[in-house]
Amino acid sequence: MPKYKLEYIWLDGYTPVPNLRGKTQVKEFADFPTLEELPLWGFDGSSTRQAPGRSSDCVLKPVSVYPDSTRKNGVLVMCEVMNADGTPHISNHRATILDDPDTWFGFEQEYFFYQDGRPLGFPDGGYPAPQGEYYTGVGYKNVGDIARQIVEEHLDLCLDAGINHEGINAEVAKGQWEFQIFGKGSKRAADEVWVARYLLIRQCEKYGIDVNFHCKPLGIELDWNGSGMHANFSTKTLRETGGKEYFEKLMAAFDKYRDEHIAVYGPDNHLRLTGLHETQSIDKFSYGVADRGASIRVPHSFVNNGYKGYLEDRRPNSQGDPYQIASRILKTIASVAV
Ligand code: ADP
Ligand code: MN
Ligand code: MN
Ligand code: MN
Repeated sequence: MPKYKLEYIWLDGYTPVPNLRGKTQVKEFADFPTLEELPLWGFDGSSTRQAPGRSSDCVLKPVSVYPDSTRKNGVLVMCEVMNADGTPHISNHRATILDDPDTWFGFEQEYFFYQDGRPLGFPDGGYPAPQGEYYTGVGYKNVGDIARQIVEEHLDLCLDAGINHEGINAEVAKGQWEFQIFGKGSKRAADEVWVARYLLIRQCEKYGIDVNFHCKPLGIELDWNGSGMHANFSTKTLRETGGKEYFEKLMAAFDKYRDEHIAVYGPDNHLRLTGLHETQSIDKFSYGVADRGASIRVPHSFVNNGYKGYLEDRRPNSQGDPYQIASRILKTIASVAV
């Protein structure tokens, strides 16, 4: 029987932003293992801020599985962290997402490549040409000579893994890029964003490049864009029933729970949600048709189809945890009577 290399991946207990962790176990299977065949595993939670030293065992529970084309017989195993008694660990936010196969999420992950403490392509001690031509740009002066190669390799790794990666674009700042992940089922896209982040960070190792997910890595003073992770969402009700009255009730709930949403939409978001650079300010909630300066953008198609379809929450930032974001959006939706 072939020996498979199982990379168990989980989120650690760092706050406000968890880190990805992973370790390998080798096991024999007749064929590529299914989720049901993968055993629970453990790790030392005292090294990941998930347990005190004296009772440090945490449990890894596989929740989704993907081929890893960088390794012979490679398997990526996304895990939830559990306590020894089988209950979800306090750091396990995936466990708080309401289960709903008919909820769909699409996340637009923006990020910067970083090298030597600055965005890839920034000259030592200075700045490149101001923003303008970088967004969706082509040419060495706009994207340099290595970023596109990494982005392409990452796309292939995601597709090999069966991740529903939907697209790429170069972003507004030099060294800044975006990819989009879409998934049906309330947890699927969030799982795939985390695994896609893992693959990107790992792929960058061999180039001596890091991925900077901070939402405003160049600070608030200079005219360089921040990074977001717009969360596009729809439920069966939104897609099939919709209606102006339901939509307005839903937006009232998003307004009511504004602080609860902002609390899980990523750290330092006040630096990014300023009302400038296609954002609404952090202490206001607004929605608008095709309005990229609103908290929630309502696509033209949504209104044209009788207030049916998907909505885009533009507030989540690039460092946000898609598990916590999906969990909060579904809680707010669940608070509104259909
Ligand atoms: P933009 O940059 O204009 O905001 P993108 O094309 O980058 O748009 O992202 C749009 C996202 O919306 C994609 O991730 C897509 O999968 C997602 N999306 C499209 N339709 C739906 C839907 N019905 N429910 C949830 N997400 C959706
Ligand atoms: Mn986009
Ligand atoms: Mn974008
Ligand atoms: Mn968007």
